[in-house]
Amino acid sequence: MTDNRVENLIVLGGGPAGYTAALYAARANLEPLVIEGFAWGGQLQNTTDVENYPGYPEGIMGPEMMNEFRAQAERFGTRFVTDDADRVELGDGGIQRVFIGDREYAARSIILAMGAEPRRLGIPGEMELAGRGVSTCGVCDGAFFKGAKVAVIGGGDSAMEDAIFISKYADDLDVVHRREEFRASKIMLDRARDQDNISFKTPFVAEEFLAGDDGKLRAVRLRHADGGEPEELEVGGAFVAIGHIPRSELVAEQVRVDDEGYVVTDGRSTRTNLAGVFAVGDLVDRTYRQAVTAAGTGCMSALDAEWYLRDTPPSPEAHWQRGGEPVEVAPQLASTGE
Ligand code: NAP
Repeated sequence: MTDNRVENLIVLGGGPAGYTAALYAARANLEPLVIEGFAWGGQLQNTTDVENYPGYPEGIMGPEMMNEFRAQAERFGTRFVTDDADRVELGDGGIQRVFIGDREYAARSIILAMGAEPRRLGIPGEMELAGRGVSTCGVCDGAFFKGAKVAVIGGGDSAMEDAIFISKYADDLDVVHRREEFRASKIMLDRARDQDNISFKTPFVAEEFLAGDDGKLRAVRLRHADGGEPEELEVGGAFVAIGHIPRSELVAEQVRVDDEGYVVTDGRSTRTNLAGVFAVGDLVDRTYRQAVTAAGTGCMSALDAEWYLRDTPPSPEAHWQRGGEPVEVAPQLASTGE
């Protein structure tokens, strides 16, 4: 059982970055342990066709691609814990610890790959009506709104992607955005504009989600960005698609993060300010946020971890875990003396 052993490497997170890190680490004989989360697969688990990942000229479904990433990491000896971490104790060098309930996992290095989650508007009704008409995942929930009138809130590619997808089911869809200009790419915006049942309502700010007598979403209260009287947009469904925030809450007090909570890495590397702690993917990247870029940083982190482990002898602490009892320590890689 892994919790009586100090691992070489724990990868925390099971998305494209985490699985790629595990693949490279496993091929480097680091025997990585991936704590992948209960809902492993990351944001691609909530995507349909992925058409922009090289190597799949016909596209591939997001969940299927994540299965393949995981299987490839497993083929080379990666082990998985399919559960959510409750607590993390990062060390500056020494031992890195992850806790799940009363289980403790320890390692000499850790790759943080927890990704990002949907940003919320923070308006009344948003949480109360979540799952009762308000959603942050068009691909997951769009099909529930067959024949309905729906609003998608946001002006980036996510909002356009959701709108295009949901318009296959909804009769009538409004994209509500707070500015006249869109952050979305031209191609996505044009595709949304080409749909007969998609309209644009700009510049409008969503102020509240209103429930009907049945306790489900009835309308969104909007106000023109320049002020004036509020108006109600009657809808059966509303999708909030306003970007993402990094899932750094377990580590933000311990490792250096920026003002938005993204973990800060050193130059072009995946090293954080703590020795033996590396960070990758959407947890770090506010700019590119693509599966392929996340996978690329996953690869980089495995190499960074491999070099760190090669050049850093296990601390005495690594041999004396669990109240002073000696434990097994994963064998150190041979130093090449570079
Ligand atoms: P994004 O590009 O950051 O856009 C977020 C949108 O939400 C912006 O229009 C922003 O408005 C709006 N917004 C943010 N906070 C808001 C608030 N509190 N109230 C109202 N509106 C708010 O995020 P994204 O659309 O999730 O895209 C993220 C990245 O993923 C981008 O690089 C994108 O290209 C990529 N992506 C690509 C695809 C694709 O190509 N298939 C699909 C999805 C995402 P302002 O513009 O006014 O700030």
